[in-house]
Amino acid sequence: MDVPSASSDSPTGPSRILLASPRGYCAGVDRAVHTVEHALDMYGAPVYVRKEIVHNKHVVEELTERGAIFVDQETEVPEGEIVVFSAHGVAPSVHENAAARALRTIDATCPLVTKVHVEARKFAKEGYTIVLIGHEGHEEVEGTTGEAPENIVLVQTEEDVEELELDDPEHVSYITQTTLSVDETSAIIAALKRKFPAITGPKTDDICYATTNRQQAVKELARECDLVLVIGSTNSSNSNRLVEVAREHGASSYLIDNHTQVREEWLNGIETVGITSGASAPEELVRSLVEFFGERGADEVSELKTVDEDVRFMLPGEIRKALDARAKGEELPVLG
Ligand code: SF4
Repeated sequence: MDVPSASSDSPTGPSRILLASPRGYCAGVDRAVHTVEHALDMYGAPVYVRKEIVHNKHVVEELTERGAIFVDQETEVPEGEIVVFSAHGVAPSVHENAAARALRTIDATCPLVTKVHVEARKFAKEGYTIVLIGHEGHEEVEGTTGEAPENIVLVQTEEDVEELELDDPEHVSYITQTTLSVDETSAIIAALKRKFPAITGPKTDDICYATTNRQQAVKELARECDLVLVIGSTNSSNSNRLVEVAREHGASSYLIDNHTQVREEWLNGIETVGITSGASAPEELVRSLVEFFGERGADEVSELKTVDEDVRFMLPGEIRKALDARAKGEELPVLG
């Protein structure tokens, strides 16, 4: 990445920039953002989006400019209009409400969130009490809980596990939110296994590959840098976890939406600044931050790669069918 050179009256700053790799967009976010873009392109504005399509202010503002209308609930969408469900997933009741309003729906739920919904339904069908490890109020937790509200209890900490009293401790399972701290979640699962030795869980981790890889990368970054800046919005769970992990591994760390939020006092005595970005943060924000430090004298930029990522998800079926019809010059399919 090219770095502009500093002018003689530039303020001081770090001389070296280290970029975490992987960072930024995950496959689920990429798919969700492209879903709204394609929907706008093919069906025209307005396209309603329930909740923020991904938890990033910049992305939401850009899509709003292109004609997306973000609403909090499906009941706010005028009858018969197009609505996209966000990457975080929705409860079955949301689909029911949308059908009752004859909304034309496109579901951009990340396939890795859908996997957790499937597990919830399976465990509920088998009569398990399901301990959901996650953050209260997070959209993903609300969506997953909606799959089996009678069976699911939420825990957020090891202390919650200690206080948990269940009617049938022999018939308990657990699932997790996809964007948690890997280390904290392992500790909570270990506490659950101590308390409920018969507990069963998913075949493979619910914390997704992107969360895991970005946390691993930021751990390495924190070992090399005094300061780690994480680009992401305050409501982005995985971005907040990156800040915590960087701090736990010895660096000062702050969450910023973009370079305008960098504070002068953070930079005192910093030689190397580490930069990473949450799974919902676009790469252009990283580039702007690199340019910002370049203008302040940073003249070395390198990348610390911990793993190669090549995960891609297919677009939702509704969008693939519409793209196919357009390519053949046929009428766009009617959305259900
Ligand atoms: S962070 Fe993970 S679960 Fe969430 S959208 Fe990205 S890939 Fe899917």
